[in-house]
Order: sequence, then C-alpha cells, then structure tokens
Amino acid sequence: MESCYAILGDIHANLEALDAVLDDARGQGVTEFYCLGDIVGYNANPHECIAKIRELGCATVRGNHDHYCSHDESLDDFQPNAANVIAWTRRLLSEEDEKWLHDLPLSIVMPGITLVHGTLDMPERWGYVFDLLDAEAHFSYQTTPICFHGHTHVPVIFDRHGTAVDRTDPPRSGERIKAAFGRRYFINVGSVGQPRDGDPRSSYVLYRPKTREIEFRRVPYDVETAADKVRKAGLPERLAVRLLFGR
Ligand code: ZN
Repeated sequence: MESCYAILGDIHANLEALDAVLDDARGQGVTEFYCLGDIVGYNANPHECIAKIRELGCATVRGNHDHYCSHDESLDDFQPNAANVIAWTRRLLSEEDEKWLHDLPLSIVMPGITLVHGTLDMPERWGYVFDLLDAEAHFSYQTTPICFHGHTHVPVIFDRHGTAVDRTDPPRSGERIKAAFGRRYFINVGSVGQPRDGDPRSSYVLYRPKTREIEFRRVPYDVETAADKVRKAGLPERLAVRLLFGR
C-alpha cells in the first residue's frame, strides 16, 4: 500500500473536530498520523483528545499550550482568554496526561520531513510565522525538503528556491500540489480544532511521500456541539463564538 501521511495540528481539545478529521483521514487511506502539537487549550475535551492522539501512537511535537499546561511557568505572555483556559485545563488533566505533554519534543526530524509547532528558529520561543521574513529565519534551520508546522491556525505554504522565499495560499480542499525537487517547503497545515482563516471547517494535510503530493483538506464537523461544550464548561463565550466563524 502506498504511504499516505496525515498531518494534524492545533487540535485544541476539540473532540468533535478531531473525530471528524480522523474519519476523513481514514477514508483517504492514511497509513501514518503525525501531530504538530497544541492538543489542549481553548476547548472542552483536553483529556479525550490526548487519549485519541496517544492511541494513534503517532510522532507528536509540543505546542505552546501543551507546554504551559504541563510546565509550571507564568502565563503573563498569554491573552486573558487563553490564560484562563490553560488554568482550567491544568486543573482537569491527570498526572499522566501532564507528564505525557511535558515530555513531548519541540521538533522531530525524520527522513524527508520535519515537524515543529511554530518555527525551527528557536522553537522554545513559540514565534509565529506570518511573513516572508519569519519564514526566511526558519529556513536557515530546515534540513529536510519539507517541514510541517501550525501555531497561527492559518494554512499556508512557504517555499525556498535558491535565495528566494515565496508564500502561496493552499489549493482548494482535495486538490493536490507536487513538491518540486530542489526546493524547501515550510507548510502550515491549519488547525483541526480552531481554524482562524474565516472557514470554520477543520483543516489538515495529507502527504504522499512517493509522489511528493501535498493535499490540504477541509472537514465539516459538529461546530454547535463543540461550542456548547465550551459554554457548559464555563469557558469564555468568545471561544465558543469564534468556532462558528472560524476566526
Ligand atoms: Zn494553537
């Protein structure tokens, strides 16, 4: 069977979204799963999402929310809503959940691909890659043809050829693009559990290493239920509403 990788990021404790993405990926003949971190934070099912990702046994890197939920460090750098949920999540996680999050690596380099939550340019600083300058700083550390990342919750492709760096919007859901030889790709797969590009559907990426094909996928899920759970958990209303709009 041809290898097909599913790369998931920024699940953010959204169980409805994660289940929908796993179903979709299995229907596409995925052979391996990879996770770009931020399994917890913002939504209501952190423990359940950790359990699902652990069950998959997939290579997983640590996101900033995973980090702050499992390390006793100040939350001063977070927006009040995010800090509020991190404190809530910390109270909810089991000791075992916390230890698992705590021990996740910041990056993973495999033959052909690298995984990181934000950027390889000091990953422990959790910098956001929005523009070409941020991407350029990252590329000086990327040693594999492709690196997948998340963190901004906005799917996008950066690629470096020679000394030039380009930024392109992802193709439509289900369309494939081919990674060219001699180029380096830094691909943001978007967010499973809290998309922020104006499309409320979950976002993830399929990668077929044999043909070097990259496919972005958008998956509808039961947003209303996920938003209701956020409200019932007593988390900030804004976190429920943003799911409905994908912002
Ligand atoms: Zn995130």
